[in-house]
Amino acid sequence: MTDPLRTFFNPRGVALIGASSNPAKLSHGVLQNLTSQGYRGRVYPVNPRGGEILGLPVYPSVAELPDAVDLAVIILSAERTVEALEACGQRSIRAAVLVASGFGELGTGGREREAQLRELARRYGMRFIGPNCIGVLDTYSRINTTFLRAVPKQEAIGFASHSGAICGGVIDWAEEVGVGFSRIISLGNQADVDMADALDSLAEDPHTRVVTAYVEGLPDGRRFVEAASRLTRHKPLVVLKAGRTPSGTRAVASHTGALAGADRAFLAACHQAGAIPVENLEELMDVAVTLAYRQPLPRSRVAILTNAGGPAAVGADAVDKQELHLVRLSEETQARLREVCPRGVMTGNPVDMLGGAQPAHYTAALDVLLGSPEVDGVMVVFVPQALTPPAEIAERVGKSAGRAGKPVVCCIFGGSGVWAAARTLHAHGVPHYLTPARAALALGALWRYKQVQARPQLEPQPVAGVDRERASHLVEAAATAGQRVLDSQAGAEVVAAYGLSVPPSGLAACAEEAVALAGRLGYPVVLKRVAPGVVHKSDAGGVALGLEDAGAVRAAFAQIVGPGEQVFVQRMAPKGLEVIVGAQRDAQFGPLVMFGLGGVYVEVLRDVAFRLAPLSETEAREMVAETAAGRLLTGVRGQPPGDLDGVVAALVGVGQLMADLPQVAEVDLNPLIVGPAGEGAWAVDARVVIGNTEG
Ligand code: ADP
Ligand code: MG
Repeated sequence: MTDPLRTFFNPRGVALIGASSNPAKLSHGVLQNLTSQGYRGRVYPVNPRGGEILGLPVYPSVAELPDAVDLAVIILSAERTVEALEACGQRSIRAAVLVASGFGELGTGGREREAQLRELARRYGMRFIGPNCIGVLDTYSRINTTFLRAVPKQEAIGFASHSGAICGGVIDWAEEVGVGFSRIISLGNQADVDMADALDSLAEDPHTRVVTAYVEGLPDGRRFVEAASRLTRHKPLVVLKAGRTPSGTRAVASHTGALAGADRAFLAACHQAGAIPVENLEELMDVAVTLAYRQPLPRSRVAILTNAGGPAAVGADAVDKQELHLVRLSEETQARLREVCPRGVMTGNPVDMLGGAQPAHYTAALDVLLGSPEVDGVMVVFVPQALTPPAEIAERVGKSAGRAGKPVVCCIFGGSGVWAAARTLHAHGVPHYLTPARAALALGALWRYKQVQARPQLEPQPVAGVDRERASHLVEAAATAGQRVLDSQAGAEVVAAYGLSVPPSGLAACAEEAVALAGRLGYPVVLKRVAPGVVHKSDAGGVALGLEDAGAVRAAFAQIVGPGEQVFVQRMAPKGLEVIVGAQRDAQFGPLVMFGLGGVYVEVLRDVAFRLAPLSETEAREMVAETAAGRLLTGVRGQPPGDLDGVVAALVGVGQLMADLPQVAEVDLNPLIVGPAGEGAWAVDARVVIGNTEG
């Protein structure tokens, strides 16, 4: 793939439309950034008043621009932005950054204006970023369309953001601690160029080694997942999403006018795309920095080197939480540590050199640890003491780390001296963190990315033997009959068409019909009331289980079926563990499959895992393994292991069903009764809900 945003980052010339000679105006800041940071193309200010700004001649209109111009930065009011974009199209300018707000985030009227922009872009074959954004910045091609005062230094972190303000904040932070960026893309309302384009662009950029994204709304979650999946094959992707909680969702809705998806869909999306989700901006940058200085973490064995016990103990707990392991140091390593460390050193792991440790001790001990084959990565912890300056420790740690091919993260506590030390460390490619937990999180991200790289490509395979036509026909028939939920029989047939095992069943209109049907299905059977509106049949006394003969069927019929109602007769499934398999549609990410422990306590226990549909067998196995239900299925306390293959087939089948049948809004199999291995997993209660028909 070629970089879809190449023109934005390497334009032959840039027009600044709405240029102003007033230094208080944003456009003046943009002109300054365009002209002062080494961009080699020409810059053309445009303003009907003409004249000269910052020594450049001002052109009265886009039409009068003299030479090749590939990119326009438009800083005008919303109405005039639309006109200016049209003028750019007529002048064959291929890319534009639209800074103005006053579009989709305002509601209907603004959205119409946004549609005009899109229409113009289509007509003239242009791409645009924004509106409501600050555009792009590339520390290598040196294009900078922002008005931000701080300018990041060159580094390997690419950042795509729906919020321009967050771009500014992140750049200020980076300057303070001495971290840099390769590219920054502020997307604003993403009326044309969206997050997926930004990810594709950063994937192709040779200077970007790690991609970070701040995500608000994703109108097309699938596009995002696809772009993210492409990217993570080559580079790590770290994502912070706002709007994952109900109040966060409200804040986002009023912010960029986009709908935020539910947390679980987002986390499933990250998982499937191989992206690393984080909780806040600190984590986003913490993790990015370690990934940018990338020394791989091939295995999970970590050592901690410290001069104080408490922080190291906290670090040890944090390491454990990241599913990393504090390695047991070999006798040989411990002996060498005793040789080079102050007397009294504790050579277990954490290696505690105690308060008297000098800079030279840090160098020597770190060299020993990095030279030990059993150590894959090191967290250095330093609590400043009166006689040891943090800057010198930073210098020493930086030098030692630079010689090793293993990741080192460094946590230096303290006040004023810390930022200088941090800058020294970053200059050596060693990330600095203020707390051991943050350092551990960063090491954990290296480990997670290693696992992303190691996992098989998860392409969902179409399920064999699916009868899509039959399922679709049943759903259509129910919709035509005005049903929102398919009756039990139709529901069972729909899921059976996707390869799920369902006990033989049918509907009967009277007691004698039920008896005859039970005879054909084979005893024992279940009778279930199918009156419309009854969601939990057993709550309403509408399920009679384990009926062994005709007499029992007649008695049950008399008890549970109302006058004129039909009854659902179903053969009993073998005994087993009751799990739930469900599916619903997320507004942003589309169909989502759920697995968990079944029964009446599902809502309370929340023992559930989610994946986007369609899903591969590997993903289905993973999601089962994530839950307590999955652990029960492996056979605990003398129980035989359950039929895992049956569960996996059910999950993959339901995923395929959701992908194939856009009319289906929800599927709920509660329970799927999982028999012993080899005896199947039976959907005894299939609830299929019809929604509106858009996929
Ligand atoms: P509802 O969920 O509406 O109450 P179900 O059809 O799920 O009704 O039945 C309630 C419970 O009865 C199930 O959770 C399961 O334990 C049991 N059950 C239902 N159908 C069968 C069956 N065919 N074989 C064995 N047990 C069944
Ligand atoms: Mg049920």
